[in-house]
Amino acid sequence: MIKGKVVVGILPTYNLKNEDNDPYQDKASFVRMYEQRIIEAGAIPIGLLNNNIENYFDICDAYVWPGGNSIQNDFYKVFEDAFKNHKPFLGICLGMQAMATYFNILEDNKKNKELSFYETYEANKESKPYLVRLEEEKISNHSHYVTKDEEKIENAKHKVKIEKGTIMDDIYKTDTINVPSMHTYIVARVPKSLTISSRTEDGTIESVEYTKNGACMLGVQYHPELIKDYKIFNWLVERSLDKYKILVNKEHKIPNNLYFKIVTYDSKCPSIDKRESLMEESVYYAFLELKKAMQEKGYEIDLQSGYRYTIDQEELFNRIVEEKGIEHTNMFVAKPRHSEHETGLAIDVCACIDGKWNFESDEELNILFSYLHSIISNYGFILRYPKGKEDITGYGYEPWHLRYVGSKLFAKEIMDNNLTLEEASNSYTLRYSKK
Ligand SMILES: [Zn+2]
Repeated sequence: MIKGKVVVGILPTYNLKNEDNDPYQDKASFVRMYEQRIIEAGAIPIGLLNNNIENYFDICDAYVWPGGNSIQNDFYKVFEDAFKNHKPFLGICLGMQAMATYFNILEDNKKNKELSFYETYEANKESKPYLVRLEEEKISNHSHYVTKDEEKIENAKHKVKIEKGTIMDDIYKTDTINVPSMHTYIVARVPKSLTISSRTEDGTIESVEYTKNGACMLGVQYHPELIKDYKIFNWLVERSLDKYKILVNKEHKIPNNLYFKIVTYDSKCPSIDKRESLMEESVYYAFLELKKAMQEKGYEIDLQSGYRYTIDQEELFNRIVEEKGIEHTNMFVAKPRHSEHETGLAIDVCACIDGKWNFESDEELNILFSYLHSIISNYGFILRYPKGKEDITGYGYEPWHLRYVGSKLFAKEIMDNNLTLEEASNSYTLRYSKK
């Protein structure tokens, strides 16, 4: 992420036709359409160059391997990062073929452990062709060269049939799409680990998927960038926000292996403990925007409590039990490892009214909170403990407690339908620990 925005790494194409060895023709190139589609989906595109490609992995949330004509061996490392760290991957044309090749090699490699990935590739290149040229009679259906000419793009389209229950089905929510393709090679041998999720009428594979162990990888043979297929690029960006869709409550403690970057925030709220003036990094940037939107309406809000260390949650819990008894405490304070504050994704907001910082309920504060609640989903926040949902959330109404869920679409779905995260978990995949 960069300043709370999803970063999508794009692989380049290298110019291999530099026969004169002209150093100025020795180029890596990026086609602007891919960059443009990623920007339109609300993310930041960055180009991945060949030298130590793994240096980019820390800042990339998703990958696009676009069409092109050359593969550098290091490019395959992108797959390792995508499936180990559950980062969404979209391969287009050559990118899909590279995906099929990669998983084929992994399978061949298992049988021949002493060989490296690239040695396996070299050893199998001739005997087990992963990719083959399209049969002559099929070429005209697939290998159109498309220019800016709209009519030619229309002519390059063919029907693609989508299998139910696949990523493709999830993206398009229809059984047939009409999309342009430009290729002469096809995936000939599909490894067992990949699912074929769509084909054309002549049987050509148009998409493959890898979804094992929480991975989210899709390769398509056609060219979604050319027809401004926003659905597929939005999917890529949305899926990379899934790490924020976690459910923490009285029954589900914080999942293991949760690594969020926590940053310090300078709050004006006088009652804040400096140890709690912290938030997850994307929450920080979303909160700055939310605060600014409130200021534009004449409202002053700030952070009263953000990220909380488990040791502090423990101390808070014990203190409230001593002061108000266990029954009251259970209604308002979470047990250690069961508080959203321990994730860095929850914030308690305080408000300044007539120059006085206020955390208690009064009429003016209620007006401020109701305006706040009407806009928070635009910044990826939800009201976590709404009125009338105490039985579901297990907590009393807390107008100040906001929870960052990453996706604005997901936040809107929850806020517009007056849902809780618990209820949303019926139709969305949320990450949570077992009871
Ligand atoms: Zn709270």
